[in-house]
Parts: sequence; C-alpha cells; structure tokens
Amino acid sequence: MSAERKYREEIVRYGRMLHERGFVAAMDGNLSVRLDHQRILVTPTCISKGAMRSGDMVIVDLEGTRVAGRRNVTSEIGMHLLIYRTRPDITAIVHAHPPTATGFAAAGMPLTRYGTPGTSELAKTLEPYVPHYDAILMSNHGVVTYGDTIEHAYMKMETVEHFAQIALVTHLLGRQQPLTGVDVEKLLLARTKYFGGKMAASLPMAMVREPEKVS
Ligand SMILES: [Zn+2]
Repeated sequence: MSAERKYREEIVRYGRMLHERGFVAAMDGNLSVRLDHQRILVTPTCISKGAMRSGDMVIVDLEGTRVAGRRNVTSEIGMHLLIYRTRPDITAIVHAHPPTATGFAAAGMPLTRYGTPGTSELAKTLEPYVPHYDAILMSNHGVVTYGDTIEHAYMKMETVEHFAQIALVTHLLGRQQPLTGVDVEKLLLARTKYFGGKMAASLPMAMVREPEKVS
C-alpha cells in the first residue's frame, strides 16, 4: 500500500473516531497529513467526519491551492498550513470541537495556568504558541492538536478532552483550580512516556483567545 493510500485510510479512521466520541457535530472538524514538503492531504469541507471515504480527501500545496481531489478543501486550511510551516517536526493535525474542552474555551477558562489571551485573527493569534505547544485550546472555537503521526495527534485530542472532563468534575465538586505546576509536570511526564522525549514543544497545552468564530 502506498503511503498516501495509508494516510487516506487513517484520516477516514480517525475522523470516524472523532465523530463517534462526539468531538465533532454535523460537518465540523478537520484532519490533515503532510505527504511531503510540498503537499498536504486534508479533509474536505461540507462532509461529516464520521462518513468520509478515502477518495473524499483533497491535496493542497503549502499555499492552500488544491492540486488534487474533487471536493473543496476545509475553510480552516489556514490553521493547518500555519502549523506545518512553523513545525517541521509535525506530520499530522486534528481539529475538533470536543464539548467539554470547547466549553472551557467558550467560557474563557484556561485548562492550565499557561493560558494567555490574544486578540487578532486566528492564524496570527496562534502563531506565537505553535512552536511551544502540541495542543491549543482556541476560545469560542475548539481544539487543535498535532504530532508526528495522525494517531498521536488524535490521542492528544482525546487527552485534552479527558483533562477537561476531569477539570469540570472537580469544578462541580467545588474545588476547581487551574492545573498546578505539579500537574503540568505529570502531563509532561505522561507525554514523554507516550510520545517520546523528542518533541520540539516544551509544554503540552495553550489557550488562545480569538474573535467570534464557529465552523
Ligand atoms: Zn472549527
């Protein structure tokens, strides 16, 4: 099987998992893989991520221009391109709206003490954080995670939502606090265990504030 064929099937598989877990609704979310230094394989717009076929994907160049595929590329391609340009170590990106983490984002509540607000347009807002984080919580929007494989990018999405659920339960029980330095150390340790210690990013998660935007 060619590498491209394998990546198409992986996008179908992890798209279905995003949908089954309720991390996306309707046509939301997008996934992409860097095929080589010139081409990105990415999900199209206007399709449920739970019902894609491998032939639905689009290939774009690093400017976002479609070079293969019948469908139109996701409107959020700019975010993917920014991450690929900034992080040569990254091969795959997952974007979704997992409800608990997105709820924290919509409420303007960071999941870690590293949350820092920004104000300008999305790609510019993300830019300073991409080199340092592997998961970004975007206020009024959702979560983007990325890694050396699509499996690792997807697992980070699950991890973010899981931490958000724990934070929510802690809050409901009346002792809500942002993660402490010790918690963040545990996250870093877990990340080294699961994803290896060679990632460029030094911290696991950032929160970025962006203007009203839902997609
Ligand atoms: Zn979105």
